[in-house]
Amino acid sequence: MRTEARIDLSAVRHNVGVLVERASDGAGVMAVVKADGYGHGLVPTARAAVQGGATWLGVAFLEEALALRAAQVQVPILAWLTTPGEDLRPAVADGVDLGVYSTAELATAQSAALATGVTARVQLKVDTGLSRGGAAVAAWPDLCEAAAKAEADGGVKVTGVWSHFAFADGGPDHPTNSRQTAVFREALVVAASAGLQPEVRHLANSAATLTAPETHFDLVRPGLAVYGLSPVPQLGGPAEFGLRPAMTLASTVAMTKRVPAGAGVSYLHRYVTESETTLALVPLGYADGIPRNATNIAQVLLAGARRTIAGTVSMDQFVLDIGDDSAAAGDEVLLFGPGTSGEPTAQDWADWLGTINYEIVTRVGARVPRTYLKASR
Ligand SMILES: *Cc1c(COP(=O)(O)O)cnc(C)c1O
Repeated sequence: MRTEARIDLSAVRHNVGVLVERASDGAGVMAVVKADGYGHGLVPTARAAVQGGATWLGVAFLEEALALRAAQVQVPILAWLTTPGEDLRPAVADGVDLGVYSTAELATAQSAALATGVTARVQLKVDTGLSRGGAAVAAWPDLCEAAAKAEADGGVKVTGVWSHFAFADGGPDHPTNSRQTAVFREALVVAASAGLQPEVRHLANSAATLTAPETHFDLVRPGLAVYGLSPVPQLGGPAEFGLRPAMTLASTVAMTKRVPAGAGVSYLHRYVTESETTLALVPLGYADGIPRNATNIAQVLLAGARRTIAGTVSMDQFVLDIGDDSAAAGDEVLLFGPGTSGEPTAQDWADWLGTINYEIVTRVGARVPRTYLKASR
């Protein structure tokens, strides 16, 4: 295969097992598989996560949840982001839990329940300080009252109350985390006094799952750690948390050739050879998720050594300068992986490019086939 993202599902199962053990006092694990399983493939990673011990799955959008149901994934699923006008009926009919931020959304869920004859499962979100989705604290009592009334009227069941941290990679000691946890506890009191009895209360992302047991409540909600990457690289890499990176991005040298000293390489000649040398062409570019600003910065593994990308990353390809080393068309190129064979990691790419490891794996393009290691089925 020319290019592939090799996914080790045994690593996903292993990582979820680690998270299940980390979850305090029997809290369950909702494995977050949004964005095509962080680029690892929605359905295969969801199945592996369930095999590893996840009892819930979390996604952003309805169609992600519906794709899981269409693939016969039957565990509870929360989908947390909709916009007005979206048809909630298929999700309600499929028993998908809906994240609800406002009384307007609650009313829409109730109408979908009426239309389908199936009770809408809703999980109310309170904004504890991220200032992104969720009901503002000032609007929270009204939302809880309205939800209690909807439950009494029939058609709606409040299955969960939840919120989300602002600091994933800020470290467990960031004061915002404890402030948000305190606001969440107050919001739970408000919900209880409105008469709500949610099955699950949840707050913790990967970082909090690994480092802040007091935030675990009934369910933890890790995404990144499921795929074996560290959410807190300043505190430790995957190995320090017992995690194994699940994705290896591999390609193949398309051709090699000798060029003289002074050859300008790729668009804009942002790399010029110093002496006669061998160039190797790799058939992967920014359309496949290799950032264009990896030009002359990021490294890959080819023929036993790290090579820095030589010149501008173009849409479908980039070039390596391998000097007088020998490599040939057909040789394997490893862009990133667990690092165990000398290849860079997704964290290395994030550090080189001034971003986070989340972005490196999720941006691998749709044109790159995901393949699943045989031994890991
Ligand atoms: C993406 C996301 C998560 C998972 O976060 P990680 O940092 O990847 O663990 C959890 N909850 C919500 C609401 C999210 O959007």
